[in-house]
Amino acid sequence: MKPFEYFRIASVAQAMALLARYSERAAVLAGGSDLIGMMKDRLQGPKFKPPQYLIDIKGVKELNYITDQKSALKIGATTTITDIASSEMIDKKYPLLSQAARQVAVPQIRNVATLGGNLCQKPRCWYYRGALFKDCFRKGGSTCYALAGENQYNAIIGGHNCYMVYPSDLAPALTALNAKVEVASAKGNRLVPIEQFYVGPAKNVLRENILTSQEMLVGVEIPSPVATSKAIYLKIRERQAFDFAIVSVAVNLTIKDNIVTDSRIVFGGLAPYPLRSAKAETELKGKRLKDAICKSCEAALGGARPMSKNGYKVAAAKGALEAALASLI
Ligand SMILES: Cc1cc2nc3c(=O)[nH]c(=O)nc-3n(C[C@H](O)[C@H](O)[C@H](O)COP(=O)(O)OP(=O)(O)OC[C@H]3O[C@@H](n4cnc5c(N)ncnc54)[C@H](O)[C@@H]3O)c2cc1C
Repeated sequence: MKPFEYFRIASVAQAMALLARYSERAAVLAGGSDLIGMMKDRLQGPKFKPPQYLIDIKGVKELNYITDQKSALKIGATTTITDIASSEMIDKKYPLLSQAARQVAVPQIRNVATLGGNLCQKPRCWYYRGALFKDCFRKGGSTCYALAGENQYNAIIGGHNCYMVYPSDLAPALTALNAKVEVASAKGNRLVPIEQFYVGPAKNVLRENILTSQEMLVGVEIPSPVATSKAIYLKIRERQAFDFAIVSVAVNLTIKDNIVTDSRIVFGGLAPYPLRSAKAETELKGKRLKDAICKSCEAALGGARPMSKNGYKVAAAKGALEAALASLI
C-alpha cells in the first residue's frame, strides 16, 4: 500500500475543511471495506491514483442515526448496514430496504460497512479492479478489456464504452423507494433524488456519481410509504453464502382496487448504475398485476445489448422481475 496521511475527525465541518484543502488527493474513509482493499491492491491508471489523505468519518456522531419522522425516514451516512438490517422499524415499514440490507455481503462486512460507503462504493469489473489493467477506460485509459474478455459479470445495458456494473444492493432498493441523498458541500447541504445521483460512463467514465472531490454524502431521506404500497427486493447470485448480484430487482408498487396505479422497478447488476425500467413500469400502469406481468418482464429488458458471455443475464433479469411481481399478487 502506498503511504497516506490519516485524519480521524469528529464533525462534518472538519471533513469539509479537509476536502477543501486536499480535494482529489483525499478520500472519505468510512468502514474501509471497499476503499482499503483497493488501496492495498495498488490500483492505478492514467487518471486513477490512490488517495494520499484519508478522512475517517466513522467517529462523526452527527452522521450515525436512524430517525423515523412522520413524512420520511432519515438515515445518516455512517449508520452501518447491520443497524439498517436489524432495525425492526425499518423491517416493518420499509421491508424492501430491510431485505436489501440483509443480502449485502456477510455479517462481518455489514458490521463495518456504512450506508454512505455502500452508496459510494466503486463499481465492479475485474479489469477495473485488477492492478495489471492500467489502461482500462475507468482508470483514464483507452481500452475496455471486458469487450473481448471475461465479460460474464459485466453490464448488458448502459455500458457505452465501459461495461462495469454498480454492485450496491442498497442503491436499487433506495431508488425504488424514491429516496433522496443529502450531499454536503462548502455551499451547504442539498437533497438530490437518488436517480440523479448516479452517472453512467456516457456522461463521465471516471465517476459513478455526481459528488465532486470536495463533497460528501451525509444521509438519505426516504418518503413514508403510501398505505397501499407493496414492495420486494430480490437478488440472484452465483454463490448463495454471499456474493454480489448477478441481477437484483427492487419493485415498489402502489395498488388500488387491484389496479396498479404507480410503480418503481429498479435493477441492480445489469448496468453501471441502478437501472430504473420505465418500460416495465408503463406496462403495469392501470392494469391488474396478474394480467400485466408477462408484458412488463418482456419490456424491461428491451434495450439490453449482451456481450459474448453475459447473455444469460437477460433471462435472469426477466425471471427475477417475474418472480418479484408474482410474489406481490
Ligand atoms: C467480500 C465482499 C462482498 C461484498 N458483497 C456485497 C454485496 O453483496 N452487496 C453490496 O451491496 N455490497 C457488497 N460489498 C461491498 C460492500 O458493501 C462495500 O464495501 C461497503 O458497503 C462499503 O462501505 P464502507 O463504509 O466500508 O465504505 P468505504 O470502503 O470506507 O468507502 C467506499 C467508497 O465510498 C467512499 N465513501 C464512503 N463514505 C462516503 C461518504 N459518506 N460520502 C462520500 N463518499 C464516501 C469512499 O471514499 C470510497 O471510495 C462487498 C464487499 C466485499 C469486500
